[in-house]
Amino acid sequence: MRDFTLELEQRKQAGLYRTRRQISGPQQPALTSDGRPLLSFCSNDYLGLASHPANIKALRDALPETGLGGAASHLICGHHDAHHQLEQRLAEFTGRSSALFFSTGYMANMGVISALAGRGDTIFSDRLNHASIIDGCILSRAKIRRYAHGNVAELEAMLAKASGHKLVVTDGVFSMDGDVAPLKELARVCRAHDALLVVDDAHGIGVLGPQGRGSIVEQGLSEEDVPVLIGTLGKAVGTSGAFVAGSPVLMDYLIQKARTYIYTTAMPPAIAVATCASIDLIEQDDERRRHLRELVAVFREEASSMGYELMPSRTPIQPIMIGDNWAALELSRALEERGMLVTAIRPPTVPEGQARLRVTLSASHSRADLDQLLEALSQCRHLVAQTDVAV
Ligand SMILES: *Cc1c(COP(=O)(O)O)cnc(C)c1O
Repeated sequence: MRDFTLELEQRKQAGLYRTRRQISGPQQPALTSDGRPLLSFCSNDYLGLASHPANIKALRDALPETGLGGAASHLICGHHDAHHQLEQRLAEFTGRSSALFFSTGYMANMGVISALAGRGDTIFSDRLNHASIIDGCILSRAKIRRYAHGNVAELEAMLAKASGHKLVVTDGVFSMDGDVAPLKELARVCRAHDALLVVDDAHGIGVLGPQGRGSIVEQGLSEEDVPVLIGTLGKAVGTSGAFVAGSPVLMDYLIQKARTYIYTTAMPPAIAVATCASIDLIEQDDERRRHLRELVAVFREEASSMGYELMPSRTPIQPIMIGDNWAALELSRALEERGMLVTAIRPPTVPEGQARLRVTLSASHSRADLDQLLEALSQCRHLVAQTDVAV
């Protein structure tokens, strides 16, 4: 029999053991973690909407109308007016002709990729794609070819040799590096090689582009250039769930074939109502994005002048590269002693030898919050040698 205790012990020795911390109260920069106050720089609530009063009020007001539970899957009797209205709102917001609401981003990726590719087809996937994309590729039973991160030339060479249907999938904004995929170039090679382009914009929706419409709109691309957009609603949107947006034919096809859409209970409809309220805020309020961009600029300038190694990212995801697992844990612990919560990200979430602190900024951070983080980073600078980074 498999020795679980031994395997756990081996993880601990490799600096790869993971634990959970327990948060009380609402999600916001000032957190209570295991009973202690900490200032958090690791949530994906980029716009500070996860605890926004307007969204909470929308949820409360919806509950008497919609009830609580989803009660059934969408194809039985779970598909509520509220879900339908959210789908129309999401299509309009992203500039697409239609959308389909999923329970989570993980399920959207698993369901969409496995519905759109199968045995005999080939999927081309960026090496730094999110775990849910990787699992969707495996589930599809298609042949999987991974191209070097952002390397469109390598992708094009692979596409030229492939047979069968071709699907190219990429994060819009890479979740652990914060850089943006070369979407224009990807759209060009996909068109040239008759490949279907799927973009997962989990970290771009709400943050990038005019009125937060995401990285595809930011780069001036249309539904024709990028036929399949996947977005999540638990990050900048601050609620829960995910969506796919594209042509009505594609949505119809997914309703027939995406198993993670078909065989799961519909999300509580009141969440869909609250999500519509959140999309309204995202569309109307450029000030949050402006403040966030300013925080990002200050962080980059100050942290790099201290000699920390950052990644070429202009998004709220600003990793500090460390390299060694133990060194990353040590810096995270030293920051926590100073009241700052920044988690260490280790393999297999990132490649071997590229452990890092994933700093994320939010419009709900004040300039004073950021200054506190920078002061703590300055005090801890001696802990990082920065010679063992294998980028
Ligand atoms: C977080 C994330 C997901 C998963 O979304 P959930 O709604 O949290 O399940 C999918 N793709 C990317 C790129 C992500 O960062």
